[in-house]
Amino acid sequence: MELKELLEFIDLEDGRLRSAHENYPDHEKRIMARMIKLSEEVGELSDEVLAFNAMQRKDKQKKHDGNNLPNEIADVLIVTLLLAKAMGVDVEEALKNKIEKINKRY
Ligand SMILES: [Mg+2]
Repeated sequence: MELKELLEFIDLEDGRLRSAHENYPDHEKRIMARMIKLSEEVGELSDEVLAFNAMQRKDKQKKHDGNNLPNEIADVLIVTLLLAKAMGVDVEEALKNKIEKINKRY
C-alpha cells in the first residue's frame, strides 16, 4: 500500500468519525479524544507484545488469539495518523524529515 492511499483512507475515516461523534464538535476535544484513543490502542498493542513473548498469566495466555498482533499495529498507525490530521501535521513531510535525520546518524 502506498502512503497516498493510506492518507486517503485517513481523510475518509476522519470524515466518518466527525459525523459519528457529534459530541466532539470542537477541535480541542477532538484532538484529546484521539490522543486518548491512541493511548488505548497502545495499551492493546502492549497486551499483544506481552502475549507474543509469553509474559502474561497462563490463564490469560490461553485465551489469547495469536493472530491479533497485526491488527493492533494497524490500529496504532491509523489512530496516530488521525491524530496527526486533527493537529494539521503533514505526515509525509514529517516522515521524510525524520528518516533523513535518522539516516544521518549512521
Ligand atoms: Mg485495537
